[in-house]
This record gives sequence, C-alpha cells and structure tokens, in this order.
Amino acid sequence: MSETIYEPLPGGCSWVTGGGTRTAVKLSRSWQRPLAECFKQSACPIETKPQEPIVLPDIPEEWLLLPNPMTPHRRHRLVVPARCWVAEDLQILGGEAAIVSALKIVRIATTNDDVEMAAFMHVGQLAGQNMWHPHWHLKEVRVREPLEVIGWQSSERFIVGTEEFAIYAEGIRAGQCLVVPKRRTVFTAPNIQKLAKLLSDFISRMNEKWKSTEGLPPEFSMVIRLAPDHTFRYASYYPILNHWGAPEYVMAPFEQGPFTLPWPHEVTAAYLRS
Ligand SMILES: [Zn+2]
Repeated sequence: MSETIYEPLPGGCSWVTGGGTRTAVKLSRSWQRPLAECFKQSACPIETKPQEPIVLPDIPEEWLLLPNPMTPHRRHRLVVPARCWVAEDLQILGGEAAIVSALKIVRIATTNDDVEMAAFMHVGQLAGQNMWHPHWHLKEVRVREPLEVIGWQSSERFIVGTEEFAIYAEGIRAGQCLVVPKRRTVFTAPNIQKLAKLLSDFISRMNEKWKSTEGLPPEFSMVIRLAPDHTFRYASYYPILNHWGAPEYVMAPFEQGPFTLPWPHEVTAAYLRS
C-alpha cells in the first residue's frame, strides 16, 4: 500500500484519485483487438463517394481538406490523406512527414478562425475512431476556461523535452500526457516541423512502451489545441490502457468527482523515462 492521491488537474476542472493498491503499470489488455480487424475496409466513404474538398492555396499533395456539413460542432472540417493507410501507418499517424502535412493544413485552414480551435486524430475504435480512413478532426472548441500551460513544469511527471516543448504525464487517464510549450509559440511552419518531429518520435516510443502483453500497441488519440491568436496552447496524447467505471461515467461529469487512475502519473513518467 502506498499513499493515496486526490488532486485537481491543471486548469482545475477535473480531479483524479489513485494510489493505495493501484500503483503498478499493467500491460495486459485482453479486450483489445488488432486495429485492422475492427473496421470493414471494403467501402471507404472518403474514396468511394465523390468529395468536394475545400480549395485553399498550398494544401499538400495527396491531402484533402473536407467540409463536414452535418456536424453539431462549429467550424468542423476533416483533414485527410487522399488514400487509406495500412494499420502500421495509422498507428504512427502516418509518420513525421504526414503529421507535418496535416498540421500544415490545420495552419492554412485556421487562418481566419480567431477562436479556440482543436485538431485531433483518433486511432482505434476505443479511442474514438469511427471510420477507417485516417482523419484529423479540425473544429472550434467550446470550453468554459481555456487551459493556460505555457512553461508549466512538474519534475516528477517529466518524460521528455526539447528546446521548445516538454512532455509530462498528466490527465484523467493512465498514460495520458500533456505536451506544453516552454514559451509563447505561434503555429508557424518551422514550429510545426519541430512539434511534428517530437510527436512522431513520442508516438513511436509509446507504441513500444505501451505494447500489451498480448502484443498490440495501444489505441490512442492525439489532440492539438490552438488559441484564438494562432498560438499553440498544448497537445495531449491519451492511450486506452484501461476502462472506466461508475466514478468516471457518473460522478465525475455530474458532480466533479475524481477520475480513478489505475496507477499514478509519477509511475507512468518513471516508466516512460526508463
Ligand atoms: Zn479510405
């Protein structure tokens, strides 16, 4: 038994609890299926239905920016490669060059979006993916209080850093990470290059570190948050390493109760640093 924790996340909107007997990383995920088995790939809606891409200058070749007219979200578009990827490519968001291309389109597409925006890709159904064709959602986010974490630090939760960014274990899920800018960072082409390299290297490492005892890399999501002044707020990576119960589905959303961590973020950080 170790000490138990009960603490707010950065931003103060949610709480986490953990510790006690829940202190060790667990890698068994008997419930997870291989990525490619989860989808019927025969009728890709992106490739089989006629698309009317949004035309903007400098969209990278082999990529499309698509409108999303039936969405409940504001300014919701999809950033997609022209062709489907194999599972191995999806597992790494297509690799560094593909991340650069996608984020470049995000930059071009948000030129006139002077509001809170997010771009995110879900990898695997448990992480929120509902169509096999890889797609970055790009949309306005309606939040009560935008998260301000420029220069945020936590020595016990530090995983890896560069001159511009640092990655910490933080969030409501075990294995969730927060990528914070060390200083104000405008979402320019050079900064996108640096961020994409960091995220690409990080995802490859996470695919190894979180490989299940059954042999599968994790399903996960990568989220990029942009401020109305076109600066990079933060990014968050969350792998699906465990499942939620009543505290997370009911008391957390209705009454701001804590999310239960199956092991503490400090344990995640130490494991990922090793
Ligand atoms: Zn497709």
